[in-house]
Amino acid sequence: MGRVYLDHAATTPVDPAVVAAMQPYWHETFGNPSSIHAFGREARAAIDTARDTVARCLGARPEEILFTSSGTEANNTVLQGVFATNLGRGHVVTSAIEHHAILTTCQHLAPLGLRTTYLPVDQHGLVDPDDVRRAIDRETVLVSVMYANNEIGTIQPLAEIGRICREAGVPFHTDAVQAPGMLPLRVDDLGVDFLSISAHKFYGPKGVGVLYARTGTRFAPLLYGGGQERGLRAGTENVAGIVGLAKALALAVSGRDAAVAQLTALRDRFIESVLARVEHCRLNGHPTQRLPNNAHFSVEFVEGEALLLNLDLLGIAASSGSACMSGAQEPSHVLQAIGLPREVAVGSIRFTLGRSTTAAEVDQAADAFADTVARLRAMSPFYADAMRTRGR
Ligand SMILES: *Cc1c(COP(=O)(O)O)cnc(C)c1O
Repeated sequence: MGRVYLDHAATTPVDPAVVAAMQPYWHETFGNPSSIHAFGREARAAIDTARDTVARCLGARPEEILFTSSGTEANNTVLQGVFATNLGRGHVVTSAIEHHAILTTCQHLAPLGLRTTYLPVDQHGLVDPDDVRRAIDRETVLVSVMYANNEIGTIQPLAEIGRICREAGVPFHTDAVQAPGMLPLRVDDLGVDFLSISAHKFYGPKGVGVLYARTGTRFAPLLYGGGQERGLRAGTENVAGIVGLAKALALAVSGRDAAVAQLTALRDRFIESVLARVEHCRLNGHPTQRLPNNAHFSVEFVEGEALLLNLDLLGIAASSGSACMSGAQEPSHVLQAIGLPREVAVGSIRFTLGRSTTAAEVDQAADAFADTVARLRAMSPFYADAMRTRGR
């Protein structure tokens, strides 16, 4: 049996059509977009076209699209940039389950004077919009709440949060890195002023992202130098990457309905199969408000890392729900935020399906999962004890 890749939330393979679209930009149309000669103008035209495409996909204007090196850079740009333009007035409202590109940046800015409110989430990972309303104060310069969580897949009520931010006159950013190809992306419908995406999460190349910034918003650049990206992001543009991102985004948007239908069916087949076969196993995240490709489980009496490594030996690539810190298993901030007891959280594992995932693959993964859990438990003295005292 072949290897099965179920870690699409970490990264995706580049679509061959995207590779083809990028191909001319390595050694034919290789000019520097800032050069005035024909070579440069051709590269500039490619970026202009890509920017138009991205803008169309987001329901935005081309001048609101900023190309970055990653989702991480897009998130940093908005947080650090908005903070920098509001010197002395620094409060950000975010959630406890954001990606590290948000949380670590807030922590970095704390000694520089940024105050951050980390909103709690409920057991399913949902932010309560009323909490956003209550958290906003006179010093709030930004609200940043992710669109869909990369670990447990929970989708936040962005439109409601966006309305609250608009009423309060506070700009609203969303880390939408997990959304393209899965969720609607039109910025006006979402009610956002800033939005981050990253090409390698939607079958584009690694190392290129977008920050959408609504006209009228203000933020200082992260990088200074040449005047690229209207002075908001210096550095010679990643022309091939930008072309690839635009192609990948157009494909993700046009193929979304079909992808969602296919992924949802396979994901539900997988979840049902796992829950039917693995005892003392729970699905984390929201039962319905979740990414169509995400299945995140906690399995009692098993360690997530052990599960992951054993599945890897069987050719199944998943992701651990807990980062292994200095030998001690520390459940992720997301699992802590949804209130999972530590002993349950340490047995967590994430499977994220993709375009190429088949029914045979999810069946193979569910088999391997059930067998591995059974084998690990057979070796666990905890499990034997627990079964005796619980009396199953
Ligand atoms: C992957 C990811 C990022 C980081 O994007 P990179 O381009 O890999 O830096 C940020 N936020 C979320 C939710 C992600 O899943």
